[in-house]
Amino acid sequence: MTSLTDSYRHKGMRKKLVEEVREKGIKDERVLEALEAVPRHFFMDSSFVEIAYQDKPFPIGSGQTISQPYTVAYQTELLRVERGCKVLEVGTGSGYQACILEEMGARVFSVERHYNLYKKTKALLAEMNYKVKVFYGDGYQGLPAFAPFDRIVVTAAAPYLPKPFLEQLKPGGIIVIPVGKGDTQVMKRITKIDDAHTEEEHFGFFRFVPMLGSKAR
Ligand code: SAH
Repeated sequence: MTSLTDSYRHKGMRKKLVEEVREKGIKDERVLEALEAVPRHFFMDSSFVEIAYQDKPFPIGSGQTISQPYTVAYQTELLRVERGCKVLEVGTGSGYQACILEEMGARVFSVERHYNLYKKTKALLAEMNYKVKVFYGDGYQGLPAFAPFDRIVVTAAAPYLPKPFLEQLKPGGIIVIPVGKGDTQVMKRITKIDDAHTEEEHFGFFRFVPMLGSKAR
């Protein structure tokens, strides 16, 4: 990355994107403000500036994608992030979602299993002065050394809810996770009431890249 420039033109495109996402049904103003604050074009190659502000997912290399802004906003809204929340993100990818969470006042810990992406994103986030802590590892394990978390958000398609996530969640904590083995997944919000009880809510269908088991380079 040579230069990170956020011009009036970029800001204007971002405002339009925020309005589009609002019209699609996102109501939490804090989420919309975070969307307006994070320069999405920094996460993509400079030749894709126009595309950065369309409400679409986009390939970011290593066979992975930066999620669609609407999807990022939707998951963030479901997560009910509050200032000071300790959040685990599984699937760092470009780092965009992690920055949205930080803008909302969260302390973010993010795990990525793809080594090249991990390295690239860690460097980018540092350059952008975000404090997100990025880890290379298998997200199925959560991040035991930093548990417990107030919130966990999974940004890849999970075949099931991995057990460590509930174990690493504080009572009263929330997990937002797209679950499904096929082409589409149902967005689930799981609230941990106490060690023995959870509440599960289902939302719409989404399409994520699959969550993979072992580390890859
Ligand atoms: N949150 C990202 C979207 C990333 S796409 C963003 O805002 O750009 C999903 C990411 O999950 C990919 O980068 C993929 O490599 C990663 N991933 C897949 N399986 C994983 C696993 N088991 N542990 C951690 N990350 C995983």
